[in-house]
Amino acid sequence: MKVLKFGGSSAATPERVKSVIDIVKPYLVGEPVTVVFSAFGGVTDILIRLSQQAWTGDESYTFNLKQLEDRHIDAVRSLITVQKQSSVLAKVKSTFNELEDVLHGIFLVKERTPRTLDFVMSFGERLSAYIISEAFQDKGIVCEYLDARKVIRTDGNFGHAKVDFESTNKLIHEHYKFHTDLQIVTGFIATSDGGETTTIGRSGSDYTAAILAGALHASSLEIWTDVDGMMTADPRKVKKAFTVKEMTYEEAMELSHFGAKVIFPATMQPAMINQIPIWIKNTFNPTFIGTRIGADGNGKEMIIKGISSMNRISLLSVEGSGLLGVVGVSMRLFGALAKERINVILISQASSEHSICLAVDAEQSKQAKASIEKEFQYEIRSSEMDEVRVESDLAIIAIVGENMKDNPGTSGRMFHALGKNGVNIHAIAQGSSELNISAVIREADVSKALNVLHEAFFLSDRRVVNLFLVGTGLIGKELLKMVSNQYNELATQHLLEVNVVGIANSKKMLFDEVGLKLNGLNERKNEEGEAMSIHAYVEKMKALNLSNSIFVDCTSSEEVTEHYQEILNSNISIVTPNKKANSGSWEKYQMLKSTAFKRGSRFLYETNVGAGLPVINTLNDLLISGDKVIRVEAVLSGTMNFIFSSFEKGKKFSAIVAEAKELGYTEPDPRDDLNGVDVARKILILSREAGIPLELKDIEVKSVVPEDCAAAPTVDEFFKKLNGHDAYFDKMRTDAELKNEKLRFMAVLDQGKASVSLASVGTDHPFYSLKGSDNIILLTTERYHERPMVIRGPGAGASVTAAGVFADIIRIGNYAVK
Ligand code: ADP
Ligand code: ASP
Ligand code: MG
Repeated sequence: MKVLKFGGSSAATPERVKSVIDIVKPYLVGEPVTVVFSAFGGVTDILIRLSQQAWTGDESYTFNLKQLEDRHIDAVRSLITVQKQSSVLAKVKSTFNELEDVLHGIFLVKERTPRTLDFVMSFGERLSAYIISEAFQDKGIVCEYLDARKVIRTDGNFGHAKVDFESTNKLIHEHYKFHTDLQIVTGFIATSDGGETTTIGRSGSDYTAAILAGALHASSLEIWTDVDGMMTADPRKVKKAFTVKEMTYEEAMELSHFGAKVIFPATMQPAMINQIPIWIKNTFNPTFIGTRIGADGNGKEMIIKGISSMNRISLLSVEGSGLLGVVGVSMRLFGALAKERINVILISQASSEHSICLAVDAEQSKQAKASIEKEFQYEIRSSEMDEVRVESDLAIIAIVGENMKDNPGTSGRMFHALGKNGVNIHAIAQGSSELNISAVIREADVSKALNVLHEAFFLSDRRVVNLFLVGTGLIGKELLKMVSNQYNELATQHLLEVNVVGIANSKKMLFDEVGLKLNGLNERKNEEGEAMSIHAYVEKMKALNLSNSIFVDCTSSEEVTEHYQEILNSNISIVTPNKKANSGSWEKYQMLKSTAFKRGSRFLYETNVGAGLPVINTLNDLLISGDKVIRVEAVLSGTMNFIFSSFEKGKKFSAIVAEAKELGYTEPDPRDDLNGVDVARKILILSREAGIPLELKDIEVKSVVPEDCAAAPTVDEFFKKLNGHDAYFDKMRTDAELKNEKLRFMAVLDQGKASVSLASVGTDHPFYSLKGSDNIILLTTERYHERPMVIRGPGAGASVTAAGVFADIIRIGNYAVK
């Protein structure tokens, strides 16, 4: 005997039912087959809602009931040939009449007991299995409809009835002795010893199939659903989840107990007792092999088999000195909860025995608190025990796998991954069998936690970073191009996946949690994006709560930097060429650094100084290895260097500034370069990196903008006035040339003091030969004392800056939690 079970999703529409029939057909030539069906997709939920409406006096239940009836009638019409429809339609209609009567009863008495609810729910499976059995017959397949209430006996615990295997097995044997045709059976429903309709727990049709398989000593049990088997995580929550080829009964039970909905936890019991392998197969991909669950399903190559999660959890903490070493406390505690039928999902007790934590379904938390406080009322009154503390909006995540017992470091990997991504853990439990480690976390963190753990355990050689870009000017655009060009290389050669999840300019923003397609992204953002506000952007980024998130600020906006603190605090790293944050107040600079440190997020800004040149990293490497900065001397403005290195005999200074502006080398107002503030910000950042707590105002800046030029109201006016100073600049240049020197716009940090000014340097000075828009930085340190370290090269331009930003991103990626 083979038992097959098809879930609601496999039979949500008549078309799907037709493909189910095609799947079953080839089985009919071999050993006998039994097929179990759930209600059509979503019907059980609808039935519960109808009863709720009737119970609360909402008359719209009649309309909704009619819709449900129409859905079933439509199914009959499309599954069964016209000539044979009438008797089936009559049966369906009479079943709906019966249901209508029950709902009307609920409506009248305004009461819906668990018993009536079970009865109402039973209609879903009774209708689906009946209609499908008729559809099979219509296709010429000999079969028989079996209402499981005939053969499955339970206690009277409505909603979660417990199966009486002794009588059930007997009844199943009896039935099958006289019914040898293909049996089409209702899942989920049964009969109590008192003769009433019961259900065996939501999603219990899997269990029905296992009960039949066990009783009939089936050779296999196949659970047909809408995914490719038991996967490493719920594919709806973890896009990269993949099918696990095999697992043990215990592993499957544990995963499903902690939320892997794909199979009902109790299903494994009858199969395990009778050593029946369970296959999980996909109705929508029937040739795929799926997952095999069996006693020998412990492939050694996987340390853990899956990660699951359960939402709507409350954590109850029972604490007090009265718990210390007192025998029988646990017995009373769990006894009190059991009396109220409260299911304890997870327990964690400190070894001091001073406190016990329990996780329960949030719906039962009030009741649980009351029952514990009632049981321990005397201890609470005498202050030996505190009132029970309840924390809500929590969830449980669990990693499951038998091989973790042979692999030390599994929990370390789990908590490291969670901690690095700012997932706070409220309680931890690990069974002594070392089959699972579970943690209670905030419900809002579930998706991130699942993905982080999935990366850490299943894609261990691959890391993912999620980018949130703001600013799509020259640098932002160039960066996108680089990410796009390097994507495959990084993914395949360096096992780093760089996902762009968010993008924005000052007008529009666009997000896609699983990664935006890079092709034509900038245009798409403008067309499809929503209105940009940096506040909303940051909120969205926080709400998505993705692992290894990086905020990439390619703007020069002060407003954006106001959000850095909040962003780093949310465990999101920042990469930016924007100097505004680091050249603000020392206090802010320090605060950002310490927040990043505390949170384990990273704040990288190599491109704040010298564009893509490795200035800040080099300085940090020197300092961290114990070196001390004595002096920094640098040309830090590509624009200024272009201007002064082009300023040769026969050229007018004003003409060169105009040319630089023309070429796009200057800020829109060239005075923003010439006034030296930009360079001052850069030397300020270098000073701070060297540990000197300067403020921008402490830097002595000698602007090269003559006073009347500075006062000019417009850029045009500025140029007009600048013409008048050409002679002055010419003299400066000639004076320098007479000494065989050249003019350079320099920043100096010496003995804790920083200054920016135009100076002239001789032929023996490394700055003398500096060309074009290059930057140069001389670092004189205790180690590099005789001859300073020199960093030199192009220090401006979109492509070198974007490359530096990209390098910072990759640096975070390499460090990212796997
Ligand atoms: P059916 O209607 O066939 O009983 P269910 O909805 O009960 O189907 O179960 C299948 C669903 O279980 C999948 O669509 C998937 O979203 C969810 N699921 C949760 N965890 C897992 C997992 N680890 N592997 C596969 N599916 C999972
Ligand atoms: N139809 C029932 C439910 O929705 C049982 C099942 O689908 O397995 O819970
Ligand atoms: Mg199911």
